[in-house]
Amino acid sequence: MKKFFSLMAAMAILLSVTAFVGCSDDSKRSKYTIEGTLDAANRTINAKMELDFYNDTQSELETLAFHLYPNAYKEGGSLTGADTSAAFSQGKSFGGIDVSGVTVDGKEARFEIEGDIMTVAIPAVMPTQRTSVSMNFSVLLPQAAHRLGYLEGKYNLGNWYPVLCAFDTEWKTHPYYVFGDPFDSTVADYRVSLSYPEELKAVSTGGVGENGVLNVSADNVRDFAVVIGDFNIKSANVNGIKINYCTEGEEDYTPLITEAITFFSDMFGNYAYKEYSVVKTAFYSGGMEYPALCYISDVLDEKAAEEVIIHETAHQWWYAAVGNDQVNEAWLDEGLTEYSTTVFYEKHPDYGVKRESRIADSLTSYSLYCEIYAHGEQQPMRKCVGDYVNNAEYTFNAYVRGQIMLDSTRILIGDGAFFDGLKLYYKLYSGKVAKAEDFVGAMEKASGRNLQSYFEGWLSGKAHLYSVS
Ligand SMILES: [Zn+2]
Repeated sequence: MKKFFSLMAAMAILLSVTAFVGCSDDSKRSKYTIEGTLDAANRTINAKMELDFYNDTQSELETLAFHLYPNAYKEGGSLTGADTSAAFSQGKSFGGIDVSGVTVDGKEARFEIEGDIMTVAIPAVMPTQRTSVSMNFSVLLPQAAHRLGYLEGKYNLGNWYPVLCAFDTEWKTHPYYVFGDPFDSTVADYRVSLSYPEELKAVSTGGVGENGVLNVSADNVRDFAVVIGDFNIKSANVNGIKINYCTEGEEDYTPLITEAITFFSDMFGNYAYKEYSVVKTAFYSGGMEYPALCYISDVLDEKAAEEVIIHETAHQWWYAAVGNDQVNEAWLDEGLTEYSTTVFYEKHPDYGVKRESRIADSLTSYSLYCEIYAHGEQQPMRKCVGDYVNNAEYTFNAYVRGQIMLDSTRILIGDGAFFDGLKLYYKLYSGKVAKAEDFVGAMEKASGRNLQSYFEGWLSGKAHLYSVS
């Protein structure tokens, strides 16, 4: 996701401060097959899903757990109780998901739904074994400019189907927190077939639909999103990758998208998918990343849209290909993505944005934020998104402090080691879920230096930035 920060944002906090005294081997992946229909008049998706589950954990499993993210949009759900007014400009509107007819290996199965988590009982499945789970589901889209929602003729299907939870020593059943992009999933293969009104266009993680039918596949992806609307689709090709820019307007960002895909491929390693789509849609804040697809908000001015496109495209490397636990280590994708945006601008001076000024802005706004919010204290980056007290705390620590830390690391170990470290990190963890120590390890290997205490200082909040005052 792209959040904007600025000195103005830090000042806005001052004014309101009293308010807050996996595995990429084909044979070892789970496979989703989803067949459904968009009932446009009723803002509803009716679908059948089969998950051919591969047990890539070290544990014998007797349950499978799924996130039912659409239930966060139910009355009383985690997204409706918080201040999400920017997304619900039409007033209150609710969504949700109903699941029925759950079977395991063809036999009716017991399942329980609590909030936005569904647990399905299965006969014991040993590591490396498979089992097949089927279900019907029906999703009601809220009238909202959110990851999931319908507004002004555009249907955003983000996090819309039952998504298998990540597994650590047990299923990770975190709620759909309001702050951050609270998602954590392993890669899988998808076959998705979705029908929709013929006069509209559908674009997805697996590509573009035709004549009212989306019939696509996407392998080795950690999520699958779709956007449907009355779009003009502008396309280009770069190094065998098809690029789509989808808009209701006339503007064309395919040159910028092509430049970003080419640049990040050169800097970090080849783009991981066969297609990439950027969709201008109803979205309340900046943009939102999914594998091989991103949203950008339809209310951005030209300069902001440009920055969001660069940022969301960098997420194809940091979040989509190299996954991370976005709930507990949000800086790992957001900090890297924000800094990748800075490096893009640095190497493309025609856009008129300097590395030095982006870092100086980050330092100034972060220092001001700490002065105002935390009485001069620095804050930890290693924090669950559910523990942030407000959006500003999340944004300044995951994005802004993340970016400052990475620029500081680059100065410390030098450009050669820093970019070698990023290439190594991408090579080692593409298609997997990386942790902070994996990132630190890649930087240590590339630089030949012990960086444990250096990174610990940043992540724990003990490393002090110098004050610009
Ligand atoms: Zn982001």
